[in-house]
Amino acid sequence: MNSLPMDTIAVLDKIGDNIFILDTHLDILFINDHAVNLIDQMNFKLDIKGKEDLIGKNIEILDMDGCETLLNLLYNGPFPTKANINLRYGSSVKILIDRFYIGGELKGYVLTWKDVSEYERELKDIKAALDEFLIVAFTDRLGNITHANEKFCKLSKYTRGELIGRNYKMLRSGYHPDQFFKDTQRYVNKGNLWQGQIMDKAKDGSCYWTQTTIFPLGSNDGKPYQQVVIQTDITEQKRTEEKLQKALKELSDFKFALDQATILGITDNKFKFIYVNDNFCKISKYERHELMGKSPKILSTEPDDLYNKIFDTIGNSQVWRGELKKLAKDGSEYWVEITIVPLLDKDGKPYQFISFQQDITVRKKTEEMLQRTEKLSVIGELAAGLAHEIRNPLTAIKGFAQLIDINTVYKQVIMEEIDRINFIVSEFMVLAKPHAIKFVSKPVIPMINQIVSILESEANLRNVQFEVDLNQSSPLVLCEQNQLKQVFLNLMKNAMEAMPHGGKVHIDLDVIDGMVEISIRDEGVGIALDKIKKLGEPFFTTKEGGNGLGLMVSYNIIQIHGGHVRVESEPNIGTCFTISIPMCKEPMML
Ligand code: ADP
Ligand code: MG
Repeated sequence: MNSLPMDTIAVLDKIGDNIFILDTHLDILFINDHAVNLIDQMNFKLDIKGKEDLIGKNIEILDMDGCETLLNLLYNGPFPTKANINLRYGSSVKILIDRFYIGGELKGYVLTWKDVSEYERELKDIKAALDEFLIVAFTDRLGNITHANEKFCKLSKYTRGELIGRNYKMLRSGYHPDQFFKDTQRYVNKGNLWQGQIMDKAKDGSCYWTQTTIFPLGSNDGKPYQQVVIQTDITEQKRTEEKLQKALKELSDFKFALDQATILGITDNKFKFIYVNDNFCKISKYERHELMGKSPKILSTEPDDLYNKIFDTIGNSQVWRGELKKLAKDGSEYWVEITIVPLLDKDGKPYQFISFQQDITVRKKTEEMLQRTEKLSVIGELAAGLAHEIRNPLTAIKGFAQLIDINTVYKQVIMEEIDRINFIVSEFMVLAKPHAIKFVSKPVIPMINQIVSILESEANLRNVQFEVDLNQSSPLVLCEQNQLKQVFLNLMKNAMEAMPHGGKVHIDLDVIDGMVEISIRDEGVGIALDKIKKLGEPFFTTKEGGNGLGLMVSYNIIQIHGGHVRVESEPNIGTCFTISIPMCKEPMML
């Protein structure tokens, strides 16, 4: 009965599939090794020691659940045929059945089994897992829904019955243009996998976002006959994204507004600049790149202590507010009102500092000016009172001194000294407000020449030369001569004193826009920038033995004459004081 040649058997035994060969009575003619193993594993409860126990037995001996189906197929065909046959305990095999002929006569059947129970279980698991996490739908080529899983129903709020057979279009939210769906469909129809984000509309009118994958499954004539739509719900993510976008937009609007409104600087937690806005660059006169990575101290006019104190405060997560005087790149100074806010990380430690600044230079300058004026008027009042107190007894002393009969030389010295005191006191009285000064129209040049000649001998001693360039038709000014001379004297003396090793004092005169401009320029030590605005303050002096009154008196006189003073100075190069006084055309008496 076993008519298969030995080497054929050996080959069949090696084949991975399970092979049964049955004769026309459905008795087992041959069974390969794999098939024996399968039967063993499938727990057929047969007492099989080897394949010999099975050969010659009818296939019914296997007592499969799907035995009837199998017999039906074997008797009725068609051949070849494929079928799923249940074995036992829920496992099944895929079976390929065909007849075989020898010499034109039907000799029996060949059954090739594939155990698919494992695949099926896996497939089931995968499907369950997919259903758990994904929205899955199948549609036909036209988009009519043929399958909808639980999640799909839940999200779309339709029942399965309401979905199946309807077109996917029913879910359109109106967010995407029609062209969008046409393009997508065309792309998938070509056999491609499409991925994108879609906003759909649920039954209750609410909208939801999905990350969607659509791909064609299987094709007969090259066109997909099924489309699989797999989606994940990303509504929450979309909402967060939108919120984030909105927040970012607000933030950038905010920053824009701040940039417009304030001077803004940001440093890292080591107090090094990482950002400055345009206003910051404009007022500090630095380019942005020159400030990056630098400490705010480079703009400081204050002692280091103050900055360290500020750093301490903000480093301890506290806001610092105050007014600071800053130094611009070109050496000019500006004032800012500043608020420094530490930005804290989740541990409460500052990771950045933002400073908001307002330019208050004008206010500060006005304050400074007011202060100076105030000081001056106090001094003025003091001077007026003092002058009276000194002058009155002086008149008495002078009168009686004339009467004393002493050596005329001594007497002359006493008289001279009394006159000198009188003069100095009257100088001080310039500052007293109600003043009976007589303004007269006078040429300026003779006054200047007179002062130059008075100072000539002292100048020689100091190795100083006067270079006087007054080649103008001598202009007239309405003035109190002695006072103006006092001004020239003070300025020329200062010029000489600024050149301890000698040098030149240039005196020029010009008439510009109805103003007589007299400039007194030296080649001396110059004045540091921060000192220039102290000039004219009472008692500001840098000289040993100086009194710091000369400029104050001079400024006051010029002011009374309706003029003003301009100072230009460069350390170690020299200083130029330019006085402008209104010119008067005709000599006149007041
Ligand atoms: P004093 O001459 O008694 O110091 P002033 O009011 O005349 O007082 O001058 C005040 C200060 O201004 C001087 O001490 C000096 O520092 C500065 N100063 C004035 N003129 C000049 C100048 N030509 N060059 C340099 N410094 C000057
Ligand atoms: Mg002086």
